[in-house]
Amino acid sequence: TPLSGAQIRQTFLDFFAQRGHQPLPSASLVPEDPTVLLTIAGMLPFKPIFLGQQKSEFPRATTSQKCIRTNDIENVGRTARHHTFFEMLGNFSFGDYFKSQAIAWAWELSTKTFGLPPERIVVSVFEEDDEAFAIWRDEVGIPAHRIQRMGAKDNFWNSGPTGPCGPCSELYYDFHPELGDDHIDLEDDTRFIEYYNLVFMQYNQDIDGNLTPLQNKNIDTGMGLERMAQILQKVPNNYETDLIFPIVQTAAKIAGIDYSTADESTKVSLKVIGDHIRAVVHMIADGITASNEGRGYVLRRLIRRVVRQGRLIGIDRDFTTDVAETAIALSESAYPNVRMKETVVKSELKIEEERFRKTLDRGEKLLEEILNRETKQISGKDAFELYDTYGFPVELTEEVAIEKGLTVDMKGFEAEMQAQRQRGRDAHKTIDLTVQGTLDTLAENLQGTEFLGYKQPSTQAEIQ
Ligand code: ATP
Ligand code: MG
Ligand code: MG
Ligand code: MG
Repeated sequence: TPLSGAQIRQTFLDFFAQRGHQPLPSASLVPEDPTVLLTIAGMLPFKPIFLGQQKSEFPRATTSQKCIRTNDIENVGRTARHHTFFEMLGNFSFGDYFKSQAIAWAWELSTKTFGLPPERIVVSVFEEDDEAFAIWRDEVGIPAHRIQRMGAKDNFWNSGPTGPCGPCSELYYDFHPELGDDHIDLEDDTRFIEYYNLVFMQYNQDIDGNLTPLQNKNIDTGMGLERMAQILQKVPNNYETDLIFPIVQTAAKIAGIDYSTADESTKVSLKVIGDHIRAVVHMIADGITASNEGRGYVLRRLIRRVVRQGRLIGIDRDFTTDVAETAIALSESAYPNVRMKETVVKSELKIEEERFRKTLDRGEKLLEEILNRETKQISGKDAFELYDTYGFPVELTEEVAIEKGLTVDMKGFEAEMQAQRQRGRDAHKTIDLTVQGTLDTLAENLQGTEFLGYKQPSTQAEIQ
């Protein structure tokens, strides 16, 4: 029998603990780092160490870090591998071992411990990283044509315009080796899945963009738990692994649907519910409450998407607490806090679901009217009314619009938002938008980096 998700997590942590890494618990989804809203990668809690602002108690560490990435929200349920909530398994070296050792262990773990056939693994390196290329070819023995050189966009990591940075090397699993090695295209996700990323932090970048070698070179890695589970459990996507499928099935049961015979769009709805419910359970358990700004807005938006997807597949009663129960039961052994916070989780969900359902009926009627009236575009004014009066996140309006072949005038919507913010300021509401503005800029500066997990929703700084 294949390893369960829990066994994969433990196997990873044990492997690195046996090799001198200190196992540490997952940090909260609410990061201490003020430049990102949510924890988006395993390295985030260690960022001050990598930046040289803090000394580590250990030269090596290993974690399974819960992460949220809203930049992948549109991919959820549509690709086989993307989630908003997922766990990133990581091994870290703080000025200790480096490239050759990190690669050797990634290979041993993949092929010996998890038993992936070596001929099914393809790797990428940064195009200028001849050192990594040579290690894979000469020390590991991967044929040169299965080592792909990639550009900076995917294979060079930095944490901002200056500071520590370096090339990455990714490991991919090949689902269809029978297709041969003539046309290896790692973007082809019907054939390949990226499951492990190794970051070699070896340079410091100065303000002019010059790279100088770091005295203390670091290793930062991330392996997707759900992706490794998909590979080892031989299921068609992350959603059908034991980490998520029971949630999908609970939702299907409530809807009176048989997942195995359901059509594609129904499956997408069920997968979105399965994904988002895990996200919201962990977010609430980590102390986030629904609101109209920041991470509270991310939470609200996720809950509303769950409710809407439920309605699309015919669920016309409150159901989020029932699916949440399955999600809690699934993760309580690894994350006991979700059971400890069960009451808060369920009451927050209940309140939010009821609130949204109440306005949804009326809102959907208006939305339908708008969709019948417009042939090309929903105006900013209409999108704003849906948002402001009926609680439709604009991203949701956009999604529905796209389903019907329409667009949304986002500029017009932004203008309406601005006008409302101005009214808010005029009414002397005391929310410091300047600080939020600074945070937005900082978060934007992180874009283009490998771990830009968080894209600001356009309505980030909204006040009500
Ligand atoms: P992809 O190219 O597939 O979007 P990525 O390159 O953005 O992945 P990294 O930032 O390198 O991902 O994160 C390290 C690892 O974490 C990935 O190799 C993958 O296994 C996992 N991972 C990243 N994003 C997600 C996600 N949205 N859902 C599930 N697993 C993820
Ligand atoms: Mg990605
Ligand atoms: Mg990638
Ligand atoms: Mg990657």
